[in-house]
Amino acid sequence: MTREGEFMNFQIEKKLKNSLGRAGVLKTPHGDILTPAFVAVGTKATVKSLNPEQVREAGTQVVLGNTYHLYLQPGDEIVRDAGGIGKFMNWPGPTMTDSGGFQVFSLGAAYGKDISKITKITDPSLLIPERFDDSDAPRLAKIGQDGVSFKSHLDGSIHYITPEKSIEIQHNLGADIIFAFDECTSPAEDLQYQEEALERTHRWAERSLIEHRKLGGDSALFGIVQGGRDENLRKKSAKFIGNLDFDGFGIGGSFAKEDMSTAVKWVNEILPEEKPRHLLGIGEPEDLFMGIENGVDLFDCVAPTRLGRNGTIYTKSGKIIIMNTKFRNDFEPIEKDCGCYTCQHYTKSYIAHLFHGKEMLAGTLASIHNLYFIVNLVKKIRQSILDDKFFEFKKEFLDQYIKNS
Ligand SMILES: [Zn+2]
Repeated sequence: MTREGEFMNFQIEKKLKNSLGRAGVLKTPHGDILTPAFVAVGTKATVKSLNPEQVREAGTQVVLGNTYHLYLQPGDEIVRDAGGIGKFMNWPGPTMTDSGGFQVFSLGAAYGKDISKITKITDPSLLIPERFDDSDAPRLAKIGQDGVSFKSHLDGSIHYITPEKSIEIQHNLGADIIFAFDECTSPAEDLQYQEEALERTHRWAERSLIEHRKLGGDSALFGIVQGGRDENLRKKSAKFIGNLDFDGFGIGGSFAKEDMSTAVKWVNEILPEEKPRHLLGIGEPEDLFMGIENGVDLFDCVAPTRLGRNGTIYTKSGKIIIMNTKFRNDFEPIEKDCGCYTCQHYTKSYIAHLFHGKEMLAGTLASIHNLYFIVNLVKKIRQSILDDKFFEFKKEFLDQYIKNS
């Protein structure tokens, strides 16, 4: 059901046979997004080390900024006064902001631990969840029923974010697509805690929606499904969030790699088919195929630029570490058939030299290639759906990529 005057228009062009996958077009006030699509992460209203022309030339359709970071610096009111995040950062295309929920997680339960969006559940140190009321734990966030209090990682100042506050901040940031405030839990938390957190996320989703309607404007609000690793909780969350009048949905959580695909499938079998779905913070090649096959339309991940700045580069035969000795006199591009600016103009030898010399251009050139690689992989997957060749393409790509990784 669509509301009158609703901007969010999502058309499914083609469905994948015998799976949940689909290719579509998502219309926003700043242009269409052809889905599935990879969203470039611009945490602080910049895709690190790239200017917007480079981001665009890599094929990027949409950029996602971070609510928590932009609220602290420069402040959401400054971004509002600048004309919104797109105008502020000189990105004319579609924009999104996340809700800050993942920061609640990374500054709370996961703070000081090496937990990322994908957790290897086999690591026993991650199976000991620390509690938020554990006062001597080095935490920067505390979760209450009404919201979350943060200690700024920048200056130690205390902030209190409620669902209403998150939505108000996101309206000031002014992205085309914004997210309901949620609590992202660790897969290592026990079932009782997951249930409590899920109840909070559901109440916060309703409150986010009410505040969003009250503030008006033309941004679209996506609700976030949580529920950790538990099948019942995931399905319960998909039913609850899917029944609310959101414009689309995020699938949140820190996943154990081995059960990410089942969690995504459980959720997407329940969410309304006609609305877009975004798998938050996931973007490795094998996960893109998995997500798309299971009905995901949008992905965002810091990996292409973060790995790029560290000298880890995607290729069709797996990732390479450009600082390895063998590349010092390798005068070929990263990939001969790659259409990116970096591969058109530079050799592995030169890029390796920049990394060894700690030159700023190193991270830029590696990020351009990595972003192009991932954005265009998703575009090729989209085309393979349109051409009825998804499963062939998946096998062909992953056979070469995984074998050599
Ligand atoms: Zn390239």
